[in-house]
Amino acid sequence: MCERQPGFVRALLFFNVSELGKRYRMEKPLMPSYRRLSVAFVRGQGAWLWDDQERRYLDAVSGIAVCGLGHAHPAVAQAVAEQSAALVHTSNLYRVPLQESLAARLTQLSGMDNAFFCNSGAEANEAAIKIARLLGHERGIDLPAIVVMEGAFHGRTLATLSATGNRNVQRGFEPLVQGFVRVPYDDPEALGQAASQRRDIVAVLLEPLQGEAGVVVPAPGYLAEVRSICDRHGWLMMLDEVQTGLGRTGAWFAYQHEGIYPDVLTLAKSLGNGVPIGACLARGQAAELIQPGMHAATFGGNPLACQAALAVIATLEQAGLVNRAAQLGSRILNGLRDALHGCGHIKDIRGKGLMIGIELTRPCGELVDRALNEALLINVTADTVVRLLPPLVMSDAEAAELVHKLGALIKGF
Ligand SMILES: *Cc1c(COP(=O)(O)O)cnc(C)c1O
Repeated sequence: MCERQPGFVRALLFFNVSELGKRYRMEKPLMPSYRRLSVAFVRGQGAWLWDDQERRYLDAVSGIAVCGLGHAHPAVAQAVAEQSAALVHTSNLYRVPLQESLAARLTQLSGMDNAFFCNSGAEANEAAIKIARLLGHERGIDLPAIVVMEGAFHGRTLATLSATGNRNVQRGFEPLVQGFVRVPYDDPEALGQAASQRRDIVAVLLEPLQGEAGVVVPAPGYLAEVRSICDRHGWLMMLDEVQTGLGRTGAWFAYQHEGIYPDVLTLAKSLGNGVPIGACLARGQAAELIQPGMHAATFGGNPLACQAALAVIATLEQAGLVNRAAQLGSRILNGLRDALHGCGHIKDIRGKGLMIGIELTRPCGELVDRALNEALLINVTADTVVRLLPPLVMSDAEAAELVHKLGALIKGF
């Protein structure tokens, strides 16, 4: 098209585009919403990814806790292939038997009563927030409030970014959605105080351990204390297990480590091993609030996504991957503690199952590039925390390679 422009027009266009390009990386027709690494992957298998130059990388990120079964898992590939040849989508205007089967499996595993299906973590949390507000209105509270945590991450829609405890996620998008009260995480006393100060609270929304905030593991007993505070005040305990759910922490759901049940549970990331699906599960009174016409999602729980999720659950179960996550997680954690013992720039090494954080005393985003050069994929969150979310199918040898390579990289940083 530029060929046909007169010279001065071309010069003008070039000037404008290149000036903008410098600021916003407009070289591709994508909104510059991500700061991407330049590597592009073309295929995967298990814990490995291959780029377009046929170079092989060990993946300790799993697409941010999405591909728990690793890449190109045959059970998921077969489920998706067969279901896509049979039926991809009908509508929630009709019964969707695979949705009923998936809800049955998830409620069995979680102890919840029922499920609403959507397509992402943010959407699952939106459903949870709507449930809490319905409860408030049922109780005659006009402007019900939900307690949320400092450092929380719940998504990027307006309600979920308002619930998120990170100003960087909110900045530029005011006015925020009202109705959230914030308290410090891992601080039952602060939660109790909120209760004594306000009458409009109906629920608490929190992550059982915080992922984006830097793999923040609360003190043992914290969730049980939150549960009893919720019981005392008649609040819903709503757990965002979008990142922690489905085996990642060494239990099907992270609350099972503390022998409690939430009233509302949200899932997404690893539920479809990469096929988009989210779920909001509820129990008791919370399970009875959504009535026909109150909430919906066109794609939510379509046969393709449900068949993928059913394959994920069957595989986790048959291969014993939940226990495997617990074992492999402590092996990696201990390996890293040994490898980094005595390093002055390590502040903390922590985690649960295959959700591991190595906190440094200074910003370490540069480690992502250095690891990439060594054909290793890691993530850095909250500026100073190397976050590992390896696939649950990672072998002992692959885990040893991860510890060896990453240990050396961090030591030399
Ligand atoms: C990733 C994440 C979300 C948001 O999920 P999306 O699918 O990106 O909307 C919400 N909560 C937690 C804890 C997450 O880790």
